[in-house]
Amino acid sequence: MQPTPSSSSCGDWLSGAIRRIEADYQRSADTHLIPLPLPALAARGIDLYLKDESTHPTGSLKHRLARSLFLYALCNGWVREGTTIVEASSGSTAVSEAYFARLLGLPFIAVMPRSTSPEKVAQIAFYGARCHFVDHAAQVYDEARALAERSGGHYMDQFTYAERATDWRGNNNIAESMFQQMAHERHPVPTWIVVGAGTGGTSATIGRYLRFRCHDTQVCVADPEGSVFSAYHRSGDTTLTAPGSRIEGIGRPRVEPSFVRTLVDRMLEVPNLDSVAAMHALSALLGRKVGPSTGTNFVGMLAVAHEMRAAGQQGSILSLLCDAGERYLPSYHDADWVRNAFGDIAPAQQRIDALMAG
Ligand SMILES: *Cc1c(COP(=O)(O)O)cnc(C)c1O
Repeated sequence: MQPTPSSSSCGDWLSGAIRRIEADYQRSADTHLIPLPLPALAARGIDLYLKDESTHPTGSLKHRLARSLFLYALCNGWVREGTTIVEASSGSTAVSEAYFARLLGLPFIAVMPRSTSPEKVAQIAFYGARCHFVDHAAQVYDEARALAERSGGHYMDQFTYAERATDWRGNNNIAESMFQQMAHERHPVPTWIVVGAGTGGTSATIGRYLRFRCHDTQVCVADPEGSVFSAYHRSGDTTLTAPGSRIEGIGRPRVEPSFVRTLVDRMLEVPNLDSVAAMHALSALLGRKVGPSTGTNFVGMLAVAHEMRAAGQQGSILSLLCDAGERYLPSYHDADWVRNAFGDIAPAQQRIDALMAG
């Protein structure tokens, strides 16, 4: 249920709120595009880059989404002074929204699976927000909606609104920024952009921007084991469900409205062991730890690089460093935890090493 309509003119609080978000944006710097040092691939004319979304104030690409969702809700008249914001999240979005809720002085409740990393939970609490846990990822939606109704608040609903709250034509969105940063590279127009899908918002924004600018770049979504998106991409059946992903931030148990199938050229199903092995290999390559969804992205990049090599094709491949590994030190970056959760990763490590060696 949406709140009753408010006046369309900018009341004092509304104009102040929008100004505060815009000022926060003005104080922020763009994120870096990092070239990956992979000499064997470079020698074949294939260059890999990661846009480092971990450097946002709230540590992930969800900083962009949270800003857009707040502006969208404010400009729609859905949020006003004192409105409680409720969100369903696997953690990263809640961290970023908690930051913006604090900026605007609004109460915030994050509805998350109990398995969400304690580091994210601590960060949400740090911003003064409340965490509300459910046992399974598939329960977050109904629980968040019900909580919003009970509290007279607003359910932000990233999984519905991510694709439409973002300015896909430009406004220095993630895609426009990537193309500007590639301007002086030897292959400035990427052959592939590889991303994961949680809401699907990032793949939708990039896919639309590519069409709008008539770029000859293909979008590949690297989808973790247990996610519904790959099967949905094949069939178009929105009623499909899946067990859900074990890679935090990406892969969903249901078909999210924000995942726009027609904007994705290709899906790649990535086994969890490969994601985790690639996360470790990439962390070693960069000298800093990355999160598990970035590992999934790296598997996708290496797979398309391998195909390009086999076809004698040269070009660049771009992807995202979605968040840093520090959020996952006791889990995906702990050898015992990984063995218990996923089993022996040695064979996957060998596969990744071989792909990196070109
Ligand atoms: C949300 C998220 C993604 C996927 O981005 P979407 O735009 O929601 O599809 C990838 N990695 C992490 C860590 C995320 O939090």
